[in-house]
Amino acid sequence: MSDNTKAARDLAAFIAASPTAFHATASVAAMLEAEGFKALDEAATFKLEKGGRYYVVRNSSSLIAFIIPDGGIEGMRCASAHTDSPSFKIKPNPVDVSSGAYATLNVESYGGAVYNSWCDRPLSIAGRAQVRTSSGIEERLVDFGRDLVSIVNLAIHQNREVNDGVKISVQTDMKPILGLGCNRDSFDKLLADELGVAADDVLSHDLFLYDRTPASIWGLEDAFISSGRLDDLMCAWSAASAFSKADAGRFIKLLALFDNEEVGSGSRQGALSDFLVTTWARVANALGLDVEGKAMVEARSIMVSADNCHALHPNHTAKCDPTNKPVVNGGVCIKYSANQKYTTDSYSAAFLADLMDRGGIPRQVFVNNSDVRGGSTLGNLSAQKLSIASVDIGAAQLAMHSAWETAGTKDVGYLVQLFKAFFTC
Ligand code: ZN
Repeated sequence: MSDNTKAARDLAAFIAASPTAFHATASVAAMLEAEGFKALDEAATFKLEKGGRYYVVRNSSSLIAFIIPDGGIEGMRCASAHTDSPSFKIKPNPVDVSSGAYATLNVESYGGAVYNSWCDRPLSIAGRAQVRTSSGIEERLVDFGRDLVSIVNLAIHQNREVNDGVKISVQTDMKPILGLGCNRDSFDKLLADELGVAADDVLSHDLFLYDRTPASIWGLEDAFISSGRLDDLMCAWSAASAFSKADAGRFIKLLALFDNEEVGSGSRQGALSDFLVTTWARVANALGLDVEGKAMVEARSIMVSADNCHALHPNHTAKCDPTNKPVVNGGVCIKYSANQKYTTDSYSAAFLADLMDRGGIPRQVFVNNSDVRGGSTLGNLSAQKLSIASVDIGAAQLAMHSAWETAGTKDVGYLVQLFKAFFTC
């Protein structure tokens, strides 16, 4: 097995263990714990030691980890990615029995999913629940880990326009079938049984649909990896796996994984929150940096904001920029946007291009076709809060936000190589 295929298989295992942002955060925390990182509590004083390795979690779905230099502090090297992916969230009191024969679940969309890709495949449910116990309210991770529901299409005979472009109503078309019968309590009972508690003790939940299909490596020479949630767990895992093994050096190394990128980042734990800027302020304070010292470190720092971008699509080549056509397995993309949707400028691009060239890591460029409105990402949002030099990168992938996305097996290894080089300092 080549190193790159091994990286892709390790990524597949991480994705399988990470059906939601809550699970992705727990998966990364486990990787960090295995490498000697200590958990910090946001509600307690940060006590840090030189050469120490720490992480802090907010809302169980965002995580910031850092490694303190064992000598003087030259600057900071930061990497960010996001833990969430588009899905469908189960509403409170979700069981709908209005068909008279089926129990379906009332859901709302989370982020911009390609809706039809979620249809006609068995789906499971995962997330978290808040449970009343004798010692107070306890949060529990939930992963049913088995096929439970399915969002079913209409037959073509009942929807002759289905192949001509059909408007999809989330409220009407995307309700998954849970079972037969008309018991409105059926879902609450199912959840309580899974948690091993009484239904009355499940006070609330954040639960999402997900596809259990394991990632597949396929195509000539195993070129492709397909899976749910490649955006952005491919970057989150690559950054975390390199970061977790990094040594203390001259720079503070920091990994920030944010939830809620797919819905605009404007939550208590998103890239627009104070999570990063406050955590860094507390680190600086614990290290005895005054205003002057902190500002000087920031001025010598750089952030790599990692989120996948679009590869040239074989059937829709005109969607691509005419002179920059990133391909799957062509290397990590440096992403540019004149309107600053991506933070890259010539300074930060040159830093990264030089780092990649010295490491023998292939690189390519992503810019949106000027007539195509691109998505937004994390970098320009977190940079509004902690304003350090920043470059946006990502692997070129296909079918972004489909239930089953496709990227390149080699690119997984290239991302890991990039983050290893970035965190060697
Ligand atoms: Zn993304």
